[in-house]
Amino acid sequence: MQGLMMDWQLTLTHVLERARRVFHEQRISSRHAAGVHRYRFADMTRRADRLAGALAGLGVARGDRIGTLGWNSHRHLEAYYAVPCMGAVLHTLNLRLHPDQLAYVINHARDRVLLVDASLLPLLEKVRDRIPTVEQVVVMSDGPLGAGLPPGAHDYEALLAAASGHFLWPELDEQDAAALCYTSGTTGHPKGVLYSHRSLVLHTLGFSIADAFAIRERDVVLTIVPMFHANAWGLPFAAGMLGCSLVLPGPHLVPKDLVDLIESEGVTFVGGVPTIVSALYQYLKESGRKVPTLRQILVGGSALPRVLLENFEAMGIEVVHAWGMTELSPAGTVSRLRRDMDDWPPEEKTRVRLLQGSPFPLVELRILMDDGTEAPWDGVTAGELEARGPWVARAYYEDPSGADRFHDGWFRTGDVASIDARGYVRLVDRTKDMVKSGGEWISSVDLENVIMGHPQVAEAAVIAVAHPKWTERPLACVVPKPDCAGALSRSAIREWLRGRVADWWLPDDVVVIEGVPKTSVGKFDKKVLRERFKDHVWPEAS
Ligand code: AMP
Repeated sequence: MQGLMMDWQLTLTHVLERARRVFHEQRISSRHAAGVHRYRFADMTRRADRLAGALAGLGVARGDRIGTLGWNSHRHLEAYYAVPCMGAVLHTLNLRLHPDQLAYVINHARDRVLLVDASLLPLLEKVRDRIPTVEQVVVMSDGPLGAGLPPGAHDYEALLAAASGHFLWPELDEQDAAALCYTSGTTGHPKGVLYSHRSLVLHTLGFSIADAFAIRERDVVLTIVPMFHANAWGLPFAAGMLGCSLVLPGPHLVPKDLVDLIESEGVTFVGGVPTIVSALYQYLKESGRKVPTLRQILVGGSALPRVLLENFEAMGIEVVHAWGMTELSPAGTVSRLRRDMDDWPPEEKTRVRLLQGSPFPLVELRILMDDGTEAPWDGVTAGELEARGPWVARAYYEDPSGADRFHDGWFRTGDVASIDARGYVRLVDRTKDMVKSGGEWISSVDLENVIMGHPQVAEAAVIAVAHPKWTERPLACVVPKPDCAGALSRSAIREWLRGRVADWWLPDDVVVIEGVPKTSVGKFDKKVLRERFKDHVWPEAS
C-alpha cells in the first residue's frame, strides 16, 4: 500500500523561489577590488532570471555543461542558481589547477559555455586553443571591459542587460543533474562527481540541522571555502533555503581582508580549511583585533589541529570539526558533544571534538577490513571507511577508471578509520599516506598532529620513505615558526614525540623545510614531498 503524499520533486528551483518569495530582503555581500558590493536576494533572483534567459539565448539546452572559472562572488552565485534551475549543469572549475588539468576537465565535461572572471582571463588564455567544445565565453567583470574583452567573448553584464526579465523555469526531475565538480586528483586525472537536484537539496537540509552546523536565518555566513570546491560545501544553497545572509570574499583571502569583511558585514559563521583558519587566528592574535559577531567556525577538508580548537575557544568562538569529500557533496561526519558528555573531564571532551565525528542523518558508514569483513565499532579496529547515502556518489562521471571505488552500493573513501560504539569516526590516514613499517602501519596524520603541537613548529608533514630494513619509515618534514629553525633538530622532535606516540613510530629523521607544499584546495601535497625526499639517506642509527 502506498502513502498518500504529493509526488514532490526535490529541486533547486524550489530553493531559488523560496529565496525570491520568502527571503528577498536578505543581503549578499561580495568583495571586489573596489570595495564590497551589496545587494539583496530579490536582486540576485532577478538577475538569475536574466542569466538563464541570456544562456538560453546563447543556445544552452537541458543537460549542457556550463563551466564557471571564478572566485566567490555574487555573479558566481547567480550562476549557482540559474544554471541548474534552467536544467543545465553547473561545472565549477578549480582555478588553481595546472592548465593541462584544467583543459582536461573542460574537455572531459564537454563544457559548451564558460563564465570566467575577468581577472582569470590570462588563465583561460593558456587553454583556450585546447578546449574545442567551448562555443561561448562570457566574461564576468566589475567594470567596463572595453578592449579587455577577448574577440568573440560576451560581457556578462551586457548579456544580462539585454536579456528578458521573465524566464520560464522548466519543471525538472529531482534526479536531473545539477552540478559537476572534479576531485582534486592526487593520483591520475581528476574525476567528476555529478550531483543531482535531489542530492543537493537533501544535503542542504542535512547539514543545516542543529546538531550539525545549526545555520539559521539570522546567520551571516562567510564562505572562505572556494565555490569550486565541492560547491563551497553547499553553503550557497543553504543561504537560499534557510535565508541566511551570504558573504563572498572574492580573491581577497589574506587574513586582514577576511577580518575586515567579518567586521563590516557582521559575520557569524565561517567555513574554511585548517590552513586558512590558522592564518586567521595568527592575524587576530598579532593584530589584537576582535571579531565579536563570530559565533562558529566550521573546519573541514583536513584534520582539525588541537591548537586551533583551543585557541579559538579561548576567544569564545566555537570550532566545529567535520569530515567530508567531494564525492559526499561533501558532508560525511560532524563532531558534536552529546548531552551525557557534559560531565566528562575537559580533556576527554577535547578528544571527542577532535574526532571527525558521527555521520550526518541519512549517511551510513562502515569500516571494511583487508579480508572483506566489516570491522566492529570499537573505536580501535581500523580499515577503509566506506559510505552510502542519498548524497554519496554512485559512480564517477564517464570515467570507468574509478569504478573500483564503488562496490555493493557503497563508496570506498580511501580513508583509513575506526568507528566507536556511538558512531564517532576517527580518521587514521589516507590509505596512500600510511607508513608501512615492518608490516605494521603508522599513521602520518597522528604524527603530524603531535608534532604540530610543538611550540616552535608552524607546520609538519610526515611521509613514508623507503628503508632497507623496515620497507618504509616515517620522515618528518617540519616548518619552523619564525626564528625557531635552530631549535628543530631530529632529537628535539623525537624527544617531543616520546611518550606521546608509540616508540616505534618515532620518525627516523627530521628535515626542516620552508613550507609544506599545498594542493589546489589547500591540503598538504605529500606527493611533492615524497618525490623530493625519495632518495633520502637515513642517519646511521636508524
Ligand atoms: P576533497 O574531496 O578534496 O574535499 O578531499 C576529501 C579528503 O579530504 C577526505 O577523503 C579526507 O582524506 C580529507 N579530509 C576531509 N575532511 C577531513 C577531516 N576533517 N579530517 C581529516 N581529513 C579530512
